[in-house]
Amino acid sequence: MVVVGGGIAGLSAAIYLGRAQRDTLVIDSGHSMAKWEPKVENYLGFPKGVDGADLLKFGREQAEHHHVEFAEDEIVSVKNDKNVFFCQGKDRDYRAQRLLIATGIFHVPPEIPGVRECLGHSMFFCKDCDGYRVRGKRIAVVGASNEAVEYALGMLYYSPCVIITPNGERQRWDKQHAKWLREYEIPVHQEKIRDVKHRGKRIQALAFENGSDVKIDYIFTTRGDVFHTGLAEQLGAELDRDGQIKIDQCMRTSVERLYAAGCLTPANCQMIIAAGQGAAAAQAINRDLFEESLANHELRRFREVQLGEEKTVPEGKATK
Ligand SMILES: Cc1cc2nc3c(=O)[nH]c(=O)nc-3n(C[C@H](O)[C@H](O)[C@H](O)COP(=O)(O)OP(=O)(O)OC[C@H]3O[C@@H](n4cnc5c(N)ncnc54)[C@H](O)[C@@H]3O)c2cc1C
Repeated sequence: MVVVGGGIAGLSAAIYLGRAQRDTLVIDSGHSMAKWEPKVENYLGFPKGVDGADLLKFGREQAEHHHVEFAEDEIVSVKNDKNVFFCQGKDRDYRAQRLLIATGIFHVPPEIPGVRECLGHSMFFCKDCDGYRVRGKRIAVVGASNEAVEYALGMLYYSPCVIITPNGERQRWDKQHAKWLREYEIPVHQEKIRDVKHRGKRIQALAFENGSDVKIDYIFTTRGDVFHTGLAEQLGAELDRDGQIKIDQCMRTSVERLYAAGCLTPANCQMIIAAGQGAAAAQAINRDLFEESLANHELRRFREVQLGEEKTVPEGKATK
């Protein structure tokens, strides 16, 4: 069994697969988005928060404890021939009977000088992850779409001080969204942002090209996501209209023996959901492998070895 992607979804699946005694290899290129979050506050079991990098480290240790193997590599192509997946990595090639794709996504940051230094500290992508931690602060939403407007409206639950800026782009929000901006009196700063003023990782102000400065504490952006679905596409898996891999409720894709879990599916991109999907995918893989072993009598062959070599009847007197 091969899992491509050793982020939150892939590690969770690996723990389940290892504990189900499946021969499991996780291939990971090491760029999980979880590393961007120094204090995850919404993951079950960590009342004081947990560093995303630590969550990955603990997950890997847990999977290794259950005999899962790891390879640091990036899979560049994959093909399926006679029920075997052939994965070509940058370092070496791998083969698997079943494949789980958990390669995640990439949130595209805005191209504003100074913003990258603040990623995950005062520049965020997800109001569900980070809205709570910016309560009462000054917030700028950077974006020009309906989604950006909805972000700005949604942020009102956390702070009264919210602005929106399309950063010089043409406003793409529709009339209804423009009406909501007026109704809720959210200021729109249309000008292009020259740079973000920050001290260390803390944003202090947006400096616009017209010379004005607006003091803010946090930026949220909705510039868009790149879904890492290339491998699934090479195998012919169907995507939905948003470019995410279509799955059933057990994480099976439209291609037989190919599964997908985590942010590259239509799930809401949260760590705990990615972990849950990884576990659900592993459960489905286990079930499918079990049914296959009954159908092709592999379990019978396994049993014959037990009957020949091991004690298979518990001690004690049989009752008549
Ligand atoms: C700044 C920031 C803050 C966030 N904060 C939170 C938060 O507070 N709470 C929360 O719930 N969520 C948060 N998230 C979202 C969270 O990080 C994701 O929900 C989670 O990491 C998704 O897990 P995943 O397994 O789908 O993808 P990832 O964890 O991103 O893992 C994907 C893995 O696949 C690997 N990979 C990709 N392609 C290949 C390939 N071809 N070959 C081999 N390996 C490959 C990558 O290197 C990576 O390790 C945050 C995200 C960001 C960007």
